[in-house]
Amino acid sequence: MRLSDMVRDAVTTLEAAGVSNAHYDARLIAAGALGVTREDLFRNPEYLFSPDAVQVFNENIRRRANREPVSRIFGQREFRSLEFIVDPNVLDPRPDSEIVVETAIDLAQRATGSVKVLDIGTGSGCLLLSILDTLPDAHGVGVDIDAAAIQNAITNARRLGLFERSKFIQSVWTESVNEKYDIIVSNPPYIRTQDIKKLAPEVAVYDPFCALDGGPDGLSGYREIACRISPLIFNASFIVVEIGIHQQETVTHIFNKASFKLREVRQDLGGIARCLVFSER
Ligand code: GLN
Repeated sequence: MRLSDMVRDAVTTLEAAGVSNAHYDARLIAAGALGVTREDLFRNPEYLFSPDAVQVFNENIRRRANREPVSRIFGQREFRSLEFIVDPNVLDPRPDSEIVVETAIDLAQRATGSVKVLDIGTGSGCLLLSILDTLPDAHGVGVDIDAAAIQNAITNARRLGLFERSKFIQSVWTESVNEKYDIIVSNPPYIRTQDIKKLAPEVAVYDPFCALDGGPDGLSGYREIACRISPLIFNASFIVVEIGIHQQETVTHIFNKASFKLREVRQDLGGIARCLVFSER
């Protein structure tokens, strides 16, 4: 079977299933089935599929047609040019969250000495680990309510060579944390419960519900964080949170009430206010 024929048929199947980037995804799935990179496909557009490769390809196209994201099918996702293993129990890392990492890195680079970072609701560990990867002197802790997420984050720490500088603890919010940190980052669940079912199936079905569900107004995670972190910060510490669309005012209000001031607002690649920085002073 020729690559071009396989991809053409798969694109028809995926488009019929409502997949928006059908051609791109079909090629990614083809590359996976052939055991080559996407760039290899461009160099050799007439690859031939063995019967085994056809079987893998068809099975993965079937999964994608069920709206399972490619990252879930392969169990991995690239985030800030690092490869993360993505277990079904953790939120699939999004490019939107890279701005949280960049902001934390900028703040850390302005500080003197090495920084200690806390990641609340760490999931795959992508925020904490990519911060540590850029800052060779930094170290940090990731907490998550889910034991499977902690295992996933530890796996990623080992694979990325960051095990020595990171620690992952199962904890309900910050209940099991008692040290102080220079930078606290979090991408808490921030979707309103009733809105989750309206999201694309890639998110609504395949991301863990508890990683999305921010309660009736989408803001309960921010309330938990704002009311818990005072004992965990120094005077000069920063809190960097990801927010959902149109949440800047309400999240700022929650942190203001807990006596934190808004320091900075950063936008994601789509121009949406996505990241807020707070501090005590
Ligand atoms: N970024 C995800 C989405 O918009 C939500 C992640 C979250 O709730 N933190 O689908």
